Amino acid sequence: MSQGRIIIISGPSGVGKGTVLRQVMAHNPLLQFSVSATTRPIRPGEIDGVHYHFVDKSRFEEMLKNNELLEHAVYADNYYGTPEKAVDDALIKGISVVLEIDVQGALQIMERRPDAISIFIAPPSLTELRRRLKGRGDTAEQIMQERLRVAPHECEIAQKYQYTVVNNDLQQAVAEVEAILTAEACRSQYRKLQYKEEN
Ligand code: ADP
Ligand code: 5GP
Repeated sequence: MSQGRIIIISGPSGVGKGTVLRQVMAHNPLLQFSVSATTRPIRPGEIDGVHYHFVDKSRFEEMLKNNELLEHAVYADNYYGTPEKAVDDALIKGISVVLEIDVQGALQIMERRPDAISIFIAPPSLTELRRRLKGRGDTAEQIMQERLRVAPHECEIAQKYQYTVVNNDLQQAVAEVEAILTAEACRSQYRKLQYKEEN
């Protein structure tokens, strides 16, 4: 059995990462979502342990001290990090794990796990990004402004990712992410062919 792969998905807040991923994962039950730890407040509709592990700052710092995190970052004044054990438990079983993380965390994973697949989801324009973020309506104005402020810098880092998918038409973006995952699964180095002589 082949090992699973780490799949990094990044992109500015509001670009549609969650929307694209929900569809890709619904079509592919063998993918597992990595549940990050964060110190940011829970949003309406989010479930602790499903969308994030919502923890306080001292618990997050304890996780850091105990080396429990594969990567971590401070984003818009809150800590975010990927618990390492859950990722490795899945990979060893042949299950691929999706990490929806910011660019700082993605660069750490590219360094530590060079066989990770990295996909940047880009907006068609900053105007459309602002419209989507506003339309989601779950983020306070000041936080939204901070997220929009960092978006151009995040998009510059797209060059470091193996793939960039522009989320203009949703169905096309979903199809492109699926095409990338299909092509990656066909890479010869991940195909363990074992033939027995037939009598
Ligand atoms: P993210 O996870 O990147 O923060 P979301 O998935 O929450 O973003 O999407 C932000 C908003 O944009 C949501 O209201 C979503 O329905 C909308 N959205 C996502 N993709 C598209 C698209 N291709 N076209 C128009 N609206 C979109
Ligand atoms: P949000 O607060 O909108 O859920 O996420 C804000 C940003 O943090 C997004 O870019 C999201 O991808 C990123 N993020 C979520 N979990 C993690 C994580 O575990 N590590 C890092 N580095 N970023 C994360």
